[in-house]
Order: sequence, then C-alpha cells, then structure tokens
Amino acid sequence: MIPAETHVHPSGDTAPSAGTLPSRGRRQSAKVLPEQARRHNRSLVLQTLFHGGAMSRADLARETRLTRVTISDLVAELISDGILAEFGTREASGPGKPAILVDLDRAGHRIVGLDLSGSDTFIGAVLTLDGEIVARHEVAAPAAAADVVDTAVALAQALVADAHAPVLGVGVGTPGVVDERGVILAAPNFGWVGFDLERALTDALQLPVLVANDANAAVLAEYTLGGAADDVMLVKVGRGVGAGLLTGGTPLRGSRFAAGEIGHVTVGTDGGPQCACGKIGCLEAWLSVPSLVARLAAASDDDARRGVLRDAGERLGIALAPVVATLDLSEIVLSGPPELLDGPLAAATLDTLRARTLAPFHEGVRIRMTAHGQDIVLRGAAVMVLSGQLGVS
Ligand SMILES: [Zn+2]
Repeated sequence: MIPAETHVHPSGDTAPSAGTLPSRGRRQSAKVLPEQARRHNRSLVLQTLFHGGAMSRADLARETRLTRVTISDLVAELISDGILAEFGTREASGPGKPAILVDLDRAGHRIVGLDLSGSDTFIGAVLTLDGEIVARHEVAAPAAAADVVDTAVALAQALVADAHAPVLGVGVGTPGVVDERGVILAAPNFGWVGFDLERALTDALQLPVLVANDANAAVLAEYTLGGAADDVMLVKVGRGVGAGLLTGGTPLRGSRFAAGEIGHVTVGTDGGPQCACGKIGCLEAWLSVPSLVARLAAASDDDARRGVLRDAGERLGIALAPVVATLDLSEIVLSGPPELLDGPLAAATLDTLRARTLAPFHEGVRIRMTAHGQDIVLRGAAVMVLSGQLGVS
C-alpha cells in the first residue's frame, strides 16, 4: 500500500521515481510517462504537507525541489479537488506580500476504519486524516461466517453516517492471508478461500475500500503515525499470532502474500504445547492469548507465572532471531494485551534476541509495545486509505 520512498531529481520535475515503478526489471529502463510523473509529484506534495503541516507554495517548492510553476499547478488542482485548502497567511519576514499557507483540508475529510480481527467483536471508527479517532462503533462478531460481510457493511454504513464529512475511503484489517487487491486467499475463521472482500465491500458501500491483513495494517500505523523505524516487524498477539513487516519503509508481502505468518512455525526441537493446527510447539501454541491465559491459570504461584511468561518470550526470541539477522531489523513492536506481553515476556524476548544474534550489528535491536493500544488496526486501516487515495505514507 505504501509507495516506496520517493526520490526526485533536483534538476527537474519529471525525474523518474524508483518508488512508483513496480518491478525490479522495469526500474532502470522504463520511460516515465508524464502522467506517472504528475501522479508522483502530486503524492510528493501531499506527503510533504501531511508530515510538515501548512506551508506556503514557496516552502513547498523548496521542500519538494519541484519548480514554483509545477507547485502552483498542482496546488490549484488539489484545491479544486477539495483535498487542499488555503489557511490564512504568514507574515513575511522580509519585503513582499505575506505568504498564503496551504494544507490538507484535514477537517474537511474523514476516513472509516474497520478491524475484523477481534474474536468477539468487530470494531470500527471514524478517523481524521491525522489518524485521530473521532467516533467509534462496535458490534458483536457474527456467529455464522456467512454473516461476516453483511455485519461489516452495516458497521461501515453506520460509521459513514456518523462521519459528518466526506469519507475519503474505508480501510479494513482482517484476519487471513490477503493479496494486494484485497482478495482473501485464506481466512479459516471466516471460511474464506479466494474471496474478494474488497470488491464485495466496494459494491455495497460505493466508496473506495482497501483490505489488508490485520497485522500488515497494524505495522502501517506504527510507521506512518507512530514513528517506527524503516526496518520493523510488528508482532500481533491475540487469538493467533501474526506479524507485519516493513523493510526500507516498504511493506514486505512475500511471494504468496503470506510474509509474517509466523504463528505456525515450530520453535525448538524439544516439544512444547500442542497447537490447534496439529503440530507440537508452534509459536502460536506458546504465545497466543488463550494459550498464555490457560498456562498462567494452571501456574501455582507468582514465580511459576513469571516462568510461563519468560518461556513464551524466549520462544518468541528464538523465532525472531533469524528474522532480525536476515533482514537487519532495528525494531520489534508488540501488539496485544500489555499485562501479558509488557514485562517478563518482552524482557525474555530481548535477552534471547541478543544472545542469538551478532553483537556489533544486532545488539541495538529494540523491542517495545505499540503506543496505539487496541486501536492499532483501525489506525493502520486509515493509513491504507491515506496511502491508496493520496499516496501518503
Ligand atoms: Zn500450529
């Protein structure tokens, strides 16, 4: 969803962007069509304003290294599309007219986000373009898988009605393996195989809809709204265990869109708890919330409970060490119940990571809880819309 980091040649406005070209083979040789350059420049202006806030056209030209003429044209087009607006003036520091400030019309648009990953509830929110939640709705997750789409549509419609501003789009985080067009390749909980959820929701809502795996949505929230590093893995612990990855600031999807599906990797050769999938010692069997809660309940005292958490953290560290080393990650972000994850478990994960990777390079790897709490998928879903509709990341 996020375009790769953009580069513009300082000398011209039509320089090719490596980020907008989809494949390695085409990157060097493809001609950049004027339309592509225009789209790229448009995203660059929006990206600059999104992170930098209101500025003058002259500021924008300097920040983006586009010409004043190009900036003038783009700003006029974006104002007429209703995406940018003028917001007063700034006193000139030298001679000349005070500069008119332009910015995203942040108050004039809303985004709807849905999180279908909860085991008991589907949650949804109306968000500002900055990812702040201004309204929240929650519905019971349907008992029958056949009702999932209708329930999600009704939830989205209620949120659109509560938005009180034009809705830029609807972002959806869902369990399962999801391809780049929002088709659910597999979601065992919902019984979906090859189901085009993005199409079904787009048809029902008549709005742009973007669908992604819940952990892949979550890592976007950390990156765009949370200041995560460019090389980061978000591990989402709930009923199952999944992960979303960014390398070089770009989502890593994998050849079958299943990058980050670490829940059923077995950890170690010394057995472990039985997993629902039939194997012994899957990461999910060590770390999922139901598994941790059951083993904590069976523990006799505080020491034993700490042991349960440290064991789970150690297994997570064993599973992550080769990933950290292979991708040279700088940061691991944990999402899930802090009372389970944020303590002996995370500490054991970090100890294990440091013990199992090459000190000079990987001893600086950080591990932390997400600051987004249970809103992380909703906020990630909003980032998907920002990225898909405005090219902002
Ligand atoms: Zn398993």
